[in-house]
Amino acid sequence: MSENGLVIVYTGGGKGKTTAALGMALRAVGHSKKVWMVQFIKGSWHYGEINSSKRLGPEFELSPAGKGFVGIIDDKLPREEHKKNAEEVLKICKENILSDKFDIVILDEVNYAINLNLINVNDVIDLIKIKPKRLDLVLTGNHAKNEIIELADLVTEMKEIKHPYKSGIKAKKGIDF
Ligand code: ATP
Ligand code: MG
Repeated sequence: MSENGLVIVYTGGGKGKTTAALGMALRAVGHSKKVWMVQFIKGSWHYGEINSSKRLGPEFELSPAGKGFVGIIDDKLPREEHKKNAEEVLKICKENILSDKFDIVILDEVNYAINLNLINVNDVIDLIKIKPKRLDLVLTGNHAKNEIIELADLVTEMKEIKHPYKSGIKAKKGIDF
């Protein structure tokens, strides 16, 4: 008998949204569950989880599918490129979700992709609505849209109390990337 999957949202301004999703993946692989994590936006930096994911394979698959920061830091790409890419990623999400090959699908940073207008919130809502019943679907990124929150079963808002970034401490290997 298969249980109903959950729609899980990690949002808020504090740190820990992506790491919470990765922690869930680590736990799920321990039960031989198949997990696919796709990262919107991220793709140009080398995050530690790209290496770790290989050690958790074949149950865990990670696809850094973004083109890097949008409009900030080192971004030299036209917005249209980011948009085109994000829309393609969304198509792959739909295929993988409908394939029913996975127990958990994690759409990392998808809320940012929506807020940056790279993708349309309605297309993400469609994914939630068409997903196989048993699939657990995780969405991360700050400023989750209300429409998504309404459809979710579990929503956690990370609240920043302190962040070292605010006292000038740069992103740390193994902690932030
Ligand atoms: P993490 O990937 O560490 O779990 P996150 O997913 O909650 O963080 P994002 O909004 O995706 O955070 O931000 C990506 C990067 O920004 C990460 O390197 C993260 O450590 C850093 N970051 C997260 N929250 C803050 C904050 N409040 N102030 C400054 N930097 C932050
Ligand atoms: Mg994140």
